[in-house]
Amino acid sequence: MKIVLQNLTKSFPSRNKKDEEVIAVNNFDFTIPDGQLIGLLGPSGCGKSTTLYMISGLQKPTSGKIFFGDDDVTELSTEKRGIGLVFQNYALYPHMTVKQNILFPLQNLKGADKLTKEQMLERAYQAAKLVQLEDFMERKPSELSGGQQQRVAIARALVKMPRVLLLDEPLSNLDARLRLQTREEIRRIQRETKITTVFVTHDQEEAMSISDMIVVMKLGVVQQIGKPQEVYDSPANLFVAKFLGTPPINVFAGKVKGGRLFIGADDVMAVKDVPDQEVYVGVRPEGFILSENGPFKCGLVNVEVMGRDVSIVASNDACQGASIRAIIDADNKVSPDQETVRFAFKPHKVFLFKKDTEERIFCEVK
Ligand code: ADP
Ligand code: MG
Repeated sequence: MKIVLQNLTKSFPSRNKKDEEVIAVNNFDFTIPDGQLIGLLGPSGCGKSTTLYMISGLQKPTSGKIFFGDDDVTELSTEKRGIGLVFQNYALYPHMTVKQNILFPLQNLKGADKLTKEQMLERAYQAAKLVQLEDFMERKPSELSGGQQQRVAIARALVKMPRVLLLDEPLSNLDARLRLQTREEIRRIQRETKITTVFVTHDQEEAMSISDMIVVMKLGVVQQIGKPQEVYDSPANLFVAKFLGTPPINVFAGKVKGGRLFIGADDVMAVKDVPDQEVYVGVRPEGFILSENGPFKCGLVNVEVMGRDVSIVASNDACQGASIRAIIDADNKVSPDQETVRFAFKPHKVFLFKKDTEERIFCEVK
């Protein structure tokens, strides 16, 4: 089921000042292709949940429209949209067994949708099988791990065979290992069922790892939409560049002068067709090349061995963060006793941004 979000906007009256409103989602315009898993990504408060609630019908847009396929569902109630919803807190009924929890949504179906007891059970077992919980049907939620409880919640969302699956930070309550496992599980289930899915998270790694496409939001406004790798490799602005990637991108104050890029006083690269101006320079941690005669001089702070790679922590006055972090192959030997270290850059890992708007300056660097 393709989902069309057309100029979707949601504003809330302010909680403190009477006249000012909060625009939680601002003019969201996007078509989610059928059968894809979309990661809605951004820091807390950027409007992810509000977007999801509007798709689900739990919240009405202030303006704009939502279509499922060709159907305008903007005015349709949540129950009639054919969606499955999963939240951060699994919200299972504690006194019911897994089976009863999964059956629950089927028991209130009316009219033509009404199922016989056998049909309901068959559906419940199908859903349980999908999340690999068929052996746990008689347990109570309290007898399950957090990851298993969340899988019950997913089975309960799937049992009505929804047209659209909506997940709001479904992994946030799980510990690191279960989070990893459950996210792979969600990806597998989504691939098997081919249900169009919107997955909300503030965790960039989570979104990047399971999404067909990610939508990066900031303060209610969509910043960039694309395949995870494409967005990482070509961020539209400094915010997106900083939000994606661990360790995060290194940001420097720089300038373009006469076709050369300077970071601080160091003339580091050639740039093509960019007028002279001050810029921010973003360099991905993997974009540094350790080089004795490299143009970029830094103080060496620390060398962290990570096995396959080495993480070099360095300092430079132009650096906008606390320190520079460069990830290089462990074959490169750096002595922690060195006082300075010099780098060259991989051109495709270096991005320029306008000083005022922080928009990307698309250009060729060498
Ligand atoms: P996210 O899920 O990305 O953390 P939300 O969609 O929950 O963000 O919230 C987006 C913005 O809208 C926030 O500034 C939040 O405070 C505001 N907001 C959300 N729900 C309400 C509400 N019911 N009333 C007033 N403001 C709200
Ligand atoms: Mg939220």
